[in-house]
Amino acid sequence: MPATVVILGGSFAGLHIAHALLKKNTKDLKVVLVSKNSHFYWNLASVRRIIPGVLKDEDIFKPIAAALKKYPESSYEFIVGTAEEADFDAKSVRITTESGESKTLSYDQLVVATGSHTAGNVPWKAEGTYEQTLALLKSTEEKVKAANHIVVAGAGTTGVELTGELAFEFGKTKEIVLLSAGDKLVNGDIIAPAAANELKKLNAKIQYNARVTETRASAADPAKTEVVLANGETLTTDLYLPTMGLIPNTTYVPAKYLNENKLVDVDEFFRVKGTTNVWAAGDVVSKPRAGFMITQKQAAGVSKNLELALAGKEPIVVKQLPMDILAAAVGRSRGAGRMGSFKLPSIGVYLAKGKTMGLPMMSGYIDGSVA
Ligand SMILES: Cc1cc2nc3c(=O)[nH]c(=O)nc-3n(C[C@H](O)[C@H](O)[C@H](O)COP(=O)(O)OP(=O)(O)OC[C@H]3O[C@@H](n4cnc5c(N)ncnc54)[C@H](O)[C@@H]3O)c2cc1C
Repeated sequence: MPATVVILGGSFAGLHIAHALLKKNTKDLKVVLVSKNSHFYWNLASVRRIIPGVLKDEDIFKPIAAALKKYPESSYEFIVGTAEEADFDAKSVRITTESGESKTLSYDQLVVATGSHTAGNVPWKAEGTYEQTLALLKSTEEKVKAANHIVVAGAGTTGVELTGELAFEFGKTKEIVLLSAGDKLVNGDIIAPAAANELKKLNAKIQYNARVTETRASAADPAKTEVVLANGETLTTDLYLPTMGLIPNTTYVPAKYLNENKLVDVDEFFRVKGTTNVWAAGDVVSKPRAGFMITQKQAAGVSKNLELALAGKEPIVVKQLPMDILAAAVGRSRGAGRMGSFKLPSIGVYLAKGKTMGLPMMSGYIDGSVA
């Protein structure tokens, strides 16, 4: 009987690890990849996809089944489905497939790579199925087109990028307001002044110390949203787009393996603490923070440790990125960023990120060259 590795989540972490294992072409290994999404989603470009007519769906979604087709059929199984309940003692996971069938999968090694989703009905991450994410992107695009006044809440990098995309396209024709809970953007990171400067150039309005406490349909016009701030002010807008809060997709993981933020608790090998054969990588861990390049390093480390575990060997410490890189595209010509504590020029961030939103890198996840 070949050993079975079950991977939950088919995104930056899960698909990377699947490729890494399958590339080894090991005869006595079966990889089972379970993903709620039938498609790999380049969510980094979601904030640009909601600007009408700029990106196509096929630019940012690629079918996972096609990405795995080059491997021998007997070496893997790809299941579009949702992990509902994991039992780390019984070494099993109960899933629901896209057709609604309930199945229990047994594993020798398990990888938890189900990431996180953003709070609110917004498409910045893949919260639902491929079809649901696609529909949400399209409906958000329609609402953007129709709105005259748009409020973006949350001034982290996603909020800055979304405001930049909106203001680049509509800064002269619509009112674009970014609400920051604190008195600086991006939690006061050193890129904050540059990001604010770039947004102002695009005519976006930034409102500081504007923490949202409540949103509700306007009584006067139910098509509009009232955004209530902690300072007592109420803004009325045509479109409210929240970007704050990443919620880990860990409801199926027994609570004792999660930390106080509902993130999976791992050791330096990225093995789930208290287990011998469960591993985790990516936003589900968010260590030191959520980021796809950080995820890439972790996926490489977990792949190596799975190989070692399957060979009956001890794991090695997973290497992290040598330097923290933070970059926010601001529209389709500028940006703000840093490598470590070294500030990057606006044009450099544009060339490295904003020009393409990283889309050329997606092919590595599809053809497997990332692994
Ligand atoms: C707008 C935006 C821009 C970003 N830009 C950058 C950037 O420039 N640089 C950077 O480093 N990072 C960036 N990030 C962060 C990056 O997107 C994440 O770090 C990355 O997506 C993490 O990948 P992941 O595989 O851990 O999880 P995710 O991408 O969250 O994917 C999780 C996968 O698991 C699936 N899933 C969820 N629940 C279940 C379940 N119960 N069963 C089965 N499958 C499930 C989901 O459908 C999804 O396919 C950005 C994030 C956002 C929102």
